[in-house]
Amino acid sequence: MANVKLNGYLASIIHKEGIKKQFKFETKLLKQNGTEDPLNEKRFTKAKGLIHRYPDRVVLTITNRCFAYCNFCFRKHNWDRFDGFDLNEAEDYIRNHPSIREVLISGGDPLTLPNSELEKILKTFRDIPNIKIIRIGSRVLTAFPQRIDKRLIDTLKKYLPLWLAIHINHPDEITELFKTKARALIESGISIVSQTVLLKGINDNSHTLEKLFCKLVEIGIKPYYLFGCDQAQANEDYRVSIDKALKIMENLRFRISGLCMPVYAFDLPEGGGKVVLEPDRLIKRVKNRYIFRNFEGREIHYEDV
Ligand code: SF4
Repeated sequence: MANVKLNGYLASIIHKEGIKKQFKFETKLLKQNGTEDPLNEKRFTKAKGLIHRYPDRVVLTITNRCFAYCNFCFRKHNWDRFDGFDLNEAEDYIRNHPSIREVLISGGDPLTLPNSELEKILKTFRDIPNIKIIRIGSRVLTAFPQRIDKRLIDTLKKYLPLWLAIHINHPDEITELFKTKARALIESGISIVSQTVLLKGINDNSHTLEKLFCKLVEIGIKPYYLFGCDQAQANEDYRVSIDKALKIMENLRFRISGLCMPVYAFDLPEGGGKVVLEPDRLIKRVKNRYIFRNFEGREIHYEDV
């Protein structure tokens, strides 16, 4: 397991309650059980670094380096060893599979690579006719916002439309620098969505998540996913039950607008794919008559066509 060191930016905000538990690696965690490669990405690897699980999209992992080493990372088995990626192989595979229309560039954190290398990857994907959507998964805004400078933005904006999916778990991670850099990205035409991991003792209450999701929307970032914490090695202390997650979602639905609501999802073991769950509103159905429970808990009849 890699020696976890915090960069200067993270070190300067690590005293904040919502942040320290995410990054301070505790050796006792390493003794816990869990699965190496819980999403079974090995099985779906079709070219070096290229994971193809769903028909319309692929993930290219281009590095194992990250701006942050989160305790609960589901790819922590890659921290000490990484087989690399092969852009030519990935390109050939995607061109030969026209059903693939979206690519997620992931890692580690893709933005740890120099701009010239990023550009090569972006250009390759933009030139593939069947690729319509390019997404980059990154922790940059919360873990090293200084990386977002004019040169990086000038590189990225050549390949619009481009989606940046940022990893953020707590409102304490939204600093003034975060806001400035997020605005610079948005003003340059880059669309930003957020991904949050539901973490015990960090954000597993509706109050914290309400604050986080509403603040993100104020800045112009759409909350996209609230993920259940994966069954990776040493993740036990962070996992939140599905029951509790659904109660939190129910509570949030009552308090915040649809724009602020992410989708709650988790990955099934053995590479079974993503499952999206919503609190159950349908109580009963008789022919075309439905009985729903509304956000106040009242039962309401609905007659369908
Ligand atoms: S930011 Fe993502 S890739 Fe990096 S350590 Fe955290 S979970 Fe893993």
